[in-house]
Amino acid sequence: MRYDYLIVGAGLYGAVFASEVKKAGYRSLVIDRRDHIGGNIYTKEMNGVNVHVYGAHIFHTSNKRVWDYVNEYAQFNNYVNSPVARYKDELYNLPFNMNTFHELWGVRTPQEAKNKLDEQIGTAREALGDSEPANLEQQALSLVGRDVYEKLIKGYTEKQWGRDCKDLPAFIIKRLPVRFTYNNNYFNDIYQGIPIGGYTGIISRLLEGTDVRLNCSFEEYMKSNEAKGSEADIFDKIVYTGMIDEYFGYSLGALEYRTLKFETETLKDVNNFQGNAVVNYTEREIPFTRVIEHKHFEHILDAESIPDTVITREYPKEYEAGDEPYYPVNDERNAALYEKYRELANKQKNVIFGGRLGQYKYYDMDKVIEAALDAAAAEVQR
Ligand code: UDP
Repeated sequence: MRYDYLIVGAGLYGAVFASEVKKAGYRSLVIDRRDHIGGNIYTKEMNGVNVHVYGAHIFHTSNKRVWDYVNEYAQFNNYVNSPVARYKDELYNLPFNMNTFHELWGVRTPQEAKNKLDEQIGTAREALGDSEPANLEQQALSLVGRDVYEKLIKGYTEKQWGRDCKDLPAFIIKRLPVRFTYNNNYFNDIYQGIPIGGYTGIISRLLEGTDVRLNCSFEEYMKSNEAKGSEADIFDKIVYTGMIDEYFGYSLGALEYRTLKFETETLKDVNNFQGNAVVNYTEREIPFTRVIEHKHFEHILDAESIPDTVITREYPKEYEAGDEPYYPVNDERNAALYEKYRELANKQKNVIFGGRLGQYKYYDMDKVIEAALDAAAAEVQR
């Protein structure tokens, strides 16, 4: 069998790429070392609920092309992510908005909230002068002030990244909106939703008609009889969506990743555990960052009609060999090391590196799709 592309990784990037080149008549073989397709967006049915096995995935985008594209592969509901943050016995709405400010300070109007916020951020702004915030702590203090920082950001962020907020880049927190409206929508994007039936269905529809081999690592495949001898006879190009440092045998050193340990539990005869899909635990002393109650993603109006519930606690940890890598660590050391790997990658004319791991980038799903569509379009034109 001859293939145009060997696609390493049956996640979102690989599946979109395979589907797009297939439309143009190219053949791909997709391999994945896991025993399922979908990469980290894989969902599995448990007790009547589609469980986000590798952590919560909420689809959101402002890119109409991407939104139209995913809607061809699934029907999306009108889920809007509105996490609740729990700090000790207090509950706060997220992202930082009028509800949060009311809960914190009792303020009721945007002007009252702005006055209070000005008091809070004044000293931080003065200390900064004209310079840009150099780290996440400075960014947070000058954006939302000390109360929000200490109750809702510091503990959560230090658990999530295992680093002091002073040692983290400012941009991580820029993902979080600050609003003077009573709007608890976590995202600023125009389009948002959860695919009815789960994410795995999207991947299997994208991979329809493409050969897929599971439980097959890149290393093993390249050693197999099929790939031995003249690689060029079997496929023209490789699309690699695994870890870029692993591809190069860690020759320049290992990139760091953050990972999560998931503790998933079925609660029998509990039809509603926390009343929301996502509850963040922002204090440092509680070891997990958030609890996901999966049924609330898909069953917006009828969650309680499912008798049991499935919840997942997320414990962040440093990545060690054998773990699943989830988040690239965006600090200077890793950024510089990635750049060196990128230079090596640029010399590999027949390899396309894609996705969160292949490009060592804190990509959301919509950005992964966009990147895969662009890469496939460039290939089809070649
Ligand atoms: N964050 C925080 N408090 C929260 C939620 C998020 O301080 O209650 C910060 C934290 O630093 C986190 C970043 O905001 O890493 C981005 O959060 P997001 O929810 O976008 O992270 P993801 O869903 O990708 O894990």
